[in-house]
Amino acid sequence: MRIRHVKGSEEAVAASPLVIQKPEEFKGKWKKEVFNNENEIFLEVGMGMGTFIRTHAENEPGINYIGFEINTTVLFKALTRYEKERVEKEKSTAPEDCNLRFIRSDARHLEEYFAKGEVDKIYLNFSDPWPKDKNANKRLTSPVFLKLYDSILKKDGVIEFKTDNRGLFDYSVETIPAEGWEITQITYDLHNDESMNQGNIMTEYEAKFSAKGNPIYKLIARRK
Ligand code: SAM
Repeated sequence: MRIRHVKGSEEAVAASPLVIQKPEEFKGKWKKEVFNNENEIFLEVGMGMGTFIRTHAENEPGINYIGFEINTTVLFKALTRYEKERVEKEKSTAPEDCNLRFIRSDARHLEEYFAKGEVDKIYLNFSDPWPKDKNANKRLTSPVFLKLYDSILKKDGVIEFKTDNRGLFDYSVETIPAEGWEITQITYDLHNDESMNQGNIMTEYEAKFSAKGNPIYKLIARRK
């Protein structure tokens, strides 16, 4: 989807203390130096406008959340919504009071930002499908990215992936085990799967596509 540029978004993102401007400086130090605690770190790669991660962060103050997004305007919108929600709930937006941070970057750099095993869970939601074979390496469930997740994820850490795109899901169901991961849970109709849908937080894309009647596919994987 083409996102219309919002004037001033670069400046706002660059000035926000909730956006970690030089994530490479915190490699291996996220808990101590960014969040000032020892809580687990859950990362969403390609968070979009961030409904999913903003809601998780609000519901689970004992987890440190990081929203990772390549597009500055999109990240700006997520940041603005987060700040607005906090203000409406009369909650502080000072970083020391927030369990959510943002990184504006390409997921290809994940290893530069996080030490081995530093991340406890990775969420991939409605990742861009890149249907042409020549773009397969850009899929966030391709071997290129799975190797990065393998490096930054703790030993028994998991990836949770959902999408309405059957082509990308089928590709992922093949690729993930071939790269040394085990799919521990899978559904081809998340919203009608009582067990896997428990506590499900819908993303913007999930709300839009499920409203059109598309089934939502989800899998959870960990290393073999
Ligand atoms: N997760 C959101 C949802 O489910 O509503 C957004 C889904 S949208 C289809 C995919 C998002 O991933 C876009 O905002 C895009 O900019 C971001 N993205 C794609 N490739 C990325 C990459 N390599 N690194 C970081 N973000 C990426």
